[in-house]
Amino acid sequence: MSLNADSSIQYVKGVGPRLAQRFATIGVGTVGDLLEYFPFRHEDEQGEVEIADLQAGTNATVRGEVTRVSGRRGSLKVEIYDGTEYCRLRWFNQTHVGPGLHEGALVVASGRVQEYDDLLEIIQPRVQVFPPDTLLATPNKGSQRIGVYRGNAEIKSSMIRRAVVSVLTQRHIPAEEILPPELCKKHDLPLRAEAIRQMHVPAGDKQLERARRRLAYEEFFLMELAMALRRYRLVSLQRGRKLHVTQEVDRRIRARFPFDLTPAQDKAVREIAHDLESGRPMTRLLQGDVGSGKTVVALHACLAAVANRGQAAFMAPTEILAQQHFANIEKYLEGSRVRRRLLRGKLSKSERAETLAAIEAGEVDLVVGTQALLEKDVAFKNLAMVVVDEQHKFGVMQRANIRTKGPLPHYLVMTATPIPRTLAMTVFGDLDVSVIDASPPGRGEIITKVVTRSQWKTVMEYVRGRLEAGEQAYVVCPLIGEDIEPEDQSEPQAQASYSVAADPRVGRRQSVPQASASGQSEPRAQASGSASNISPNPTPRARPSHALVSAKRAYEHLTKGPFRGLKVGLLHGSLKSADKQSVIEAFSAGELHAVVSTTVVEVGVDVPNATVMIVENADRFGLSQLHQLRGRVGRGGKDSLCVLIAHGRGEKSAERLAVMAETTDGFKIAEADLRQRGPGEMLGTRQHGLPELRVGDIINDFGLLEAARRDAFDAVARDPKLQQPLHARMIPALRKMFGGKLALIDAG
Ligand code: ADP
Ligand code: MG
Repeated sequence: MSLNADSSIQYVKGVGPRLAQRFATIGVGTVGDLLEYFPFRHEDEQGEVEIADLQAGTNATVRGEVTRVSGRRGSLKVEIYDGTEYCRLRWFNQTHVGPGLHEGALVVASGRVQEYDDLLEIIQPRVQVFPPDTLLATPNKGSQRIGVYRGNAEIKSSMIRRAVVSVLTQRHIPAEEILPPELCKKHDLPLRAEAIRQMHVPAGDKQLERARRRLAYEEFFLMELAMALRRYRLVSLQRGRKLHVTQEVDRRIRARFPFDLTPAQDKAVREIAHDLESGRPMTRLLQGDVGSGKTVVALHACLAAVANRGQAAFMAPTEILAQQHFANIEKYLEGSRVRRRLLRGKLSKSERAETLAAIEAGEVDLVVGTQALLEKDVAFKNLAMVVVDEQHKFGVMQRANIRTKGPLPHYLVMTATPIPRTLAMTVFGDLDVSVIDASPPGRGEIITKVVTRSQWKTVMEYVRGRLEAGEQAYVVCPLIGEDIEPEDQSEPQAQASYSVAADPRVGRRQSVPQASASGQSEPRAQASGSASNISPNPTPRARPSHALVSAKRAYEHLTKGPFRGLKVGLLHGSLKSADKQSVIEAFSAGELHAVVSTTVVEVGVDVPNATVMIVENADRFGLSQLHQLRGRVGRGGKDSLCVLIAHGRGEKSAERLAVMAETTDGFKIAEADLRQRGPGEMLGTRQHGLPELRVGDIINDFGLLEAARRDAFDAVARDPKLQQPLHARMIPALRKMFGGKLALIDAG
């Protein structure tokens, strides 16, 4: 009986139920899983040689007749003779190598050759055993490349290889083609079964690379196919409110801003207006550095909705930010007839009920709030525009479950995290993207210095001089303080309706823990004393990850040391909201020289007079997060300074940070971050919907990704429900890749 891809691995010749359990530890349950469990490298194996030509220190294959079998517990020795010379095969920890291995049998054995007791031995060889007098096929004389597999304590590379080879020697390899043949032809890609064979036992480098390209293309194609399907459902099937952004409307909105829009803002506004006029619901990502002027663009969109008698909802990630947005919006809308409200988290029952009733009755045009706006009891009469300020969170955007009647509202998500083109394409491939790539004029320059911990005092004394001259500084630390719960800086959110479910298969690329890129939590401090060490003579730590500076310690050291006599605030997420607010207000008002904080400043603060940013343990942050932190300064007209203190020993950590000193271009930094950490880590593994790629590399195979994307979108344009047989056969593979998240096909 021949196996198919869904057959359990236990039916593979030489596997069986017990070994099958071990295969389960590497996630291999079926023959299909096994064939897609690719080696991480290959090794050369010599073709068959005569025993007389064997050389110690090489890998070789020989054949011969068994002349002697001997063995004790833990060691089995078999001597063979091929007419030229004798050699010995030896196994350790094994007393039995399978049936038929006795005198007179014929064997073909491969493995490492070494000399022992004047005799050449092959250690732990792989053998095939044949009955006496078998007519063996002509030996293969060339050298061969074989796969080396990632195993574990349960299962070794050689066991995996044996099972793979056993499947590959079937007449029919159970690896059905899933790509349309025209695409393979167009990109000169081998068929699936051939690519899989070459991945395991390549005929040569060229064949291996071709096989890899084929499988990378296949992954990209499936991933983009899912995007294209989702996009099709969003854009083509749904009805949106048609909003008219006439010249008059546009003129009146712009008159609200005390400045002209920059060309970059102009372009974004036009792109959005185009979507609003289309009659389809907009799903657009608005990218731009902190301070680049996204909020103004988003407000333009909200006001366009209001001008069309629709309601607009503006959601911020935290209560503080919602208040800040609201205060800004109030400034712009002073004297306007637009009815606006801040939906605070802490309203009395009756206030809340009154606000909700007003929203539902359509008596409010513009509502600002946190994601609490997504809660079930909030209903809109006529919601036309939803703006989500995601700040630094990535996420595959799903339409929030907002209660409103009629067509879907338009959707605009702002993010201050520049996403490299490569990633944007994979993660946000189903969205439209507007980029604000130039800041409003009149901003000062930011000088960035990367220093080591030994320069701490010098740096802080220099900074003191600037603070005494009227500038203000942030000092950011990765921890709050000892004995404090890991910080969760985000306020409670209606997460469930918003972000895509975690994909447990997405692997982390890096084992060293880093301060979380998305700023969701802060590492917990270790037992007192070991956590925050910024004294000039730190005790060396066995695990450098413990040498994290906490905000409380830094505060103490600074106020007793270099910042003595200055007014310094302490800000972290375990403070009460009101206390946080008062520190922020004092800092904004210029009443504090410096504020020592955890990464909460990333989202909360906008102080143009702050011109110095100091980051402790900078090497523990992702580059993108450092870029966000740095964006807190340089907001006014004055030049700013950013000091990144690398605590890690060795050149590596400073080197990693060098990019920060070289450029302030968020996209360049994001690309570097992507290269350093890989997509899973960069995105905050749990939040994005990126499938695990086994073969494709979105950075190095970018050209192939682009091609696959075009092909996938083409295919969906021609056959949006994947009903043609050549498309339908891709559906199981899509399901396998995306698991339960692929409702899009069934619903189509
Ligand atoms: P973002 O939301 O991208 O962080 P904002 O929209 O909050 O940026 O703008 C940051 C600052 O720049 C605000 O103080 C805003 O008033 C100002 N600003 C925005 N657009 C312009 C412009 N076109 N010209 C001058 N200043 C601007
Ligand atoms: Mg902003």
